[in-house]
Amino acid sequence: MTASTALIDVLRGAVGTAHVLTSGDLTAWELDWRQRWRGKALAVVRPASTQEVAAVVRACAAHGASIVPQGGNTGLVGGGVPDASGSQVLLSLTRLNRIREIDRANLTLTAEAGCVLQAVQQAASDAGLLFPLSLAAEGSCTIGGNLATNAGGTQVLRYGNARALCLGLEVVTAAGEVWQGLTGLRKDNTGYDLRDLFIGSEGTLGVMTAATLALHPQPAAAMTAMARCATIEACVRLLGMAQQRLGPGLTGFEAMNAFSLALVARHFPDQRQPLAPGPWTVLLELADTDGQAHAHARLETLLGTALETGLIDDAAIAESLAQSRAMWHLRESIPLAQAEEGLNIKHDISLPVSRIAAFCDTTGAALAHAVPGMRLVNFGHLGDGNLHYNVQAPEGLDAAAFLQAHEHDVNRIVYDAVAAHAGSISAEHGIGALKRDELPRYKDATALALMRAIKHALDPRGTLNPGRVL
Ligand code: FAD
Ligand code: ZN
Repeated sequence: MTASTALIDVLRGAVGTAHVLTSGDLTAWELDWRQRWRGKALAVVRPASTQEVAAVVRACAAHGASIVPQGGNTGLVGGGVPDASGSQVLLSLTRLNRIREIDRANLTLTAEAGCVLQAVQQAASDAGLLFPLSLAAEGSCTIGGNLATNAGGTQVLRYGNARALCLGLEVVTAAGEVWQGLTGLRKDNTGYDLRDLFIGSEGTLGVMTAATLALHPQPAAAMTAMARCATIEACVRLLGMAQQRLGPGLTGFEAMNAFSLALVARHFPDQRQPLAPGPWTVLLELADTDGQAHAHARLETLLGTALETGLIDDAAIAESLAQSRAMWHLRESIPLAQAEEGLNIKHDISLPVSRIAAFCDTTGAALAHAVPGMRLVNFGHLGDGNLHYNVQAPEGLDAAAFLQAHEHDVNRIVYDAVAAHAGSISAEHGIGALKRDELPRYKDATALALMRAIKHALDPRGTLNPGRVL
């Protein structure tokens, strides 16, 4: 018996033969969402409880096998699929999918890591409350994956990212022990914050098995609008005006350049676009405690002033829930339309809002000069200073060949400009495999040394997701 068949036997004993997959079509676990990374797992293991996860981790550690944790496999940086060695165990958390508890008075919900985000939102809503984390992959991404990547999404402006919505965690350590940290406390200063260490660690420090999440009251009304701007600078000024006038009621502020919406029109022609195409389109959302009519009036006043002062040249307010959903659907279809168009060079960057216009002007010009004909899909969560600044091959060119030829140079132009404007090369998707080799160039050397020390302290044998992040 080889070492790997011995390990597979132990894993079968731990989770049941039916939940250790070694043959057949494993594409769903081995190929990432973008179809950029295809690995080969020794086995796909699907435990159903925290204790089973702990047993799997102990077995792998004892046999010297490394583990790649995976939730919904919607990550965009290649962090959740195995490498090509055929020696890594793919640990799928999707069978840990119970909502364990809702505490209405404490405004908390405890969910297992494999719960799909949409199921968590629904459970909160069924209890008359709101779990505000929201992103286009919410129908298949898991809360474990959201926390492991510290996901952002469309409501960060008002409610913060995944980290801000997590109060407690249950984690299986690299040694296969269970850290029971499922607290619902909003204040707990009893030493180092282990929770915040695991959040955003992309499966490299521990396996999250459950989380206690912070809920919010449901707003009485939500109102969505779209507005058209001539420049990114006008979008930024509109953001300032909206923040000033709507205060914490402003829950979302997204910007989309003309090409991102043109891609949606090309690949999803059935979707109606409320405004005629323009250089920039902004989507904004207002949550209001005084009801629909009040929300509508506030948005109308804001957009009226923006029109009068020339910040925007057209606007549309959603007059029904269906229209509001359609506006959001347009925005959320951009990543899907891009995927239909072909592979592209993705950048998930953040910048001080005050630097965004200057960044876009100079970087756009530098890219157009270096790669004539490249098409910029520039959109994102402008309210958070977060752009998805993606470079698509010139029309008609083979996308894979384009990436091969230009990815390195394009990344250098974009990331050097991000650094020059005091930004970050990963706003919300993480580092994974995609940006691991970029990190040393852009991250403070002392910070990197501290990160390596933490990795070594928590996972000295390198069992958990080796080669990712660091
Ligand atoms: P996976 O892809 O399975 O894993 C992601 C990482 O987390 C991997 O490194 C994996 O090892 C680790 N991991 C997963 N589960 C665990 C666990 N239980 N314990 C420890 N480690 C674990 N992200 C945003 O932030 N904002 C967006 O607006 C956004 N929009 C998106 C839109 C689309 C269409 C898609 C496809 C993705 C989008 N993403 C966005 C990317 C985002 O990272 C994921 O959608 C989501 O957060 C990952 O969840 P997942 O369960 O699919 O994780
Ligand atoms: Zn995003």
